[in-house]
Amino acid sequence: MSHSQTTRVQTIIGDPVSDTPVVDRDTLEEVFKDIQSDLRYDHELNGCLNCGICTATCPSAHYYDFSPREIVQLLWTENLEGIYDAMQEKIWACAQCYTCAARCPFDNSPGGLIMLMRETAIKHGMESAKNVLRPFSRVMLKLISTGNQLSPDMITADGFADWGPNVTKIDAPLDVLRKAIPVPTLNTTKTAWEVNLTTSVELYTIWEETGVLDQLEMIDENLFDVIIDIMDEKREDLQDWEDEQEELDSSHINR
Ligand code: SF4
Ligand code: SF4
Repeated sequence: MSHSQTTRVQTIIGDPVSDTPVVDRDTLEEVFKDIQSDLRYDHELNGCLNCGICTATCPSAHYYDFSPREIVQLLWTENLEGIYDAMQEKIWACAQCYTCAARCPFDNSPGGLIMLMRETAIKHGMESAKNVLRPFSRVMLKLISTGNQLSPDMITADGFADWGPNVTKIDAPLDVLRKAIPVPTLNTTKTAWEVNLTTSVELYTIWEETGVLDQLEMIDENLFDVIIDIMDEKREDLQDWEDEQEELDSSHINR
């Protein structure tokens, strides 16, 4: 019987309520190869005693159906179906605090391994990655285009309803309050601090060279297009500014 025709991943690992789709063997192998071939993999995984110290100290394990011990065991035993299944939900419960890495007697980093699995989930355009990152599209736009994560104008009473009575404080005239800060780069509400144009454009090179933009295109094509437009515009602005400076310099020399 063919694996791809007959088997759902969850029946193999015994999770009857999982929504994991049918996955063929080649995909499972390709996903694992992508995780394992990362340069960090051998550094993060040295063996596993199955002792559970990582899970005992993991804050996320206290609140979610999640165990770093289980994730490390799946990788250590090369359980391809289990790895793929964990990537559909469980890996997104990790808070990336790295308490596990500090405690593991084998010097493993379960949090670091989970990061590799997340990056692979994004690379493969998995729905779990799209769903997890969707609510953060505004933050990603701000972060990639300016290097700032959150700006004062993103903090609204509606968006922070869980602040309780303190929510009234964010209805204060933020633009006036920001202008009162005696640090000029903080006198803005559009970014957490004013970002120099050259710095922004240098950041774009980093996003391009490290593959961040490729990953973004895989999970959110519309956001990718918006960001590319912003990047083109800012690069043109910088070029114009540099041309102006050059003209000014040459006019000084010719005087
Ligand atoms: S990853 Fe480390 S702490 Fe966690 S179960 Fe394995 S050996 Fe124990
Ligand atoms: S990094 Fe993740 S897996 Fe490790 S202790 Fe923190 S939340 Fe748990």
